Amino acid sequence: MKNYKNPDENGYYGEFGGAFIPEMLYPNVAELREKYLQIIESAEFQEEFQDLLKNYVGRATPLYFAKNLSEKYQTQIYLKREDLNHTGAHKINNALGQALLAKKLGKERIIAETGAGQHGVATATACALLGLECIVYMGEIDIARQAPNVARMKMLGTTVIPATSGSKTLKDAVNEALRDWINNSTTTHYIIGSVVGPHPFPDLVAGFQSVISEEIKWQLKEKTGTENPDYVIACVGGGSNAAGAFYHFVNEEKVKLIAAEAGGFGVNSGKSAATTFLGTLGVLHGSKSLVMQTDDGQVIEPHSISAGLDYPGIGPFHANLFSEKRAEFFSVNDDEALKSAFELTKLEGIIPALESAHALAVLEKRKFAENEVVVICLSGRGDKDMETYLKHL
Ligand SMILES: *Cc1c(COP(=O)(O)O)cnc(C)c1O
Repeated sequence: MKNYKNPDENGYYGEFGGAFIPEMLYPNVAELREKYLQIIESAEFQEEFQDLLKNYVGRATPLYFAKNLSEKYQTQIYLKREDLNHTGAHKINNALGQALLAKKLGKERIIAETGAGQHGVATATACALLGLECIVYMGEIDIARQAPNVARMKMLGTTVIPATSGSKTLKDAVNEALRDWINNSTTTHYIIGSVVGPHPFPDLVAGFQSVISEEIKWQLKEKTGTENPDYVIACVGGGSNAAGAFYHFVNEEKVKLIAAEAGGFGVNSGKSAATTFLGTLGVLHGSKSLVMQTDDGQVIEPHSISAGLDYPGIGPFHANLFSEKRAEFFSVNDDEALKSAFELTKLEGIIPALESAHALAVLEKRKFAENEVVVICLSGRGDKDMETYLKHL
């Protein structure tokens, strides 16, 4: 079997990845590329990181056998409960890992960009804990839309700077963050929130999220006697929770992988975020991958009911799994995700994040055998989505 897990030395997963960045960013990215593996693999780093994951984040998160859901779908369903992490989702695994890495690199200042504010909150949390200065760039429109997360970041001591150019949303915040990084390279680390961006970010983030599948392995072994499930299912925005859930299974031929993308109003509706269905080869945010774009390379505005999946690209790790047919990709529409969120809440008493509900909705789209073990990554909890849920109650 091919190695799907690690990029080559230039950061490529098959034909996807690399580092497409302005020359002024070369020194920052080169420093990271040269040092990240050595620091992360050191005993000192691992000791601190594992201690934080356990005692601060609350890991290991349970692998929960969902009896009622299993009965309904006539298969063996286990939920990996990333929703029970501190701050309510998997994003904290990566934010803490990178903040700790930044410290080891001698950086005292952290920048990040955020759309819905989830990555901003995770980063602000890690910085408060580790005593790092934190600046989060956020589109002016997103700041108005996501008031509770903006308040959280402020309370955590983070400076939230509005991006006022262009469409005043995520991609403008990315541009502002990059500009900041160019101007403050010696003091500052840029915490990217998913398996996107120039090499080595996709590998860095996948590595920090790989704790998800590492735990699934021993937990499943405890519960079923074997460490490999038949299927792992996860939702994909940029792809970090999916990369973490797939990581230790991706080179195991017998484990089938399923990714759920946001179909929005439907793949052909013009309001979608299903990148593998709609995307073509292009460069977005520093790496070569599948991108939703017009023929002349303009990025198409994506749509999803869930802010975390509302992204016009997909990490190179996943683009490669798609192109090699190593993973099966489903597009899940807004209404299907909503239905699955209500179903899980009713059957199991767990209110999932809207993003995670896309992974759950695969149960309606594909039949699994009665004795097959299906692990679904429940990437986050639904508190942040209550306003949307209330509208559909
Ligand atoms: C941000 C987010 C996602 C999407 O990001 P990935 O990098 O694709 O994992 C999924 N679920 C939740 C709960 C999120 O907050």
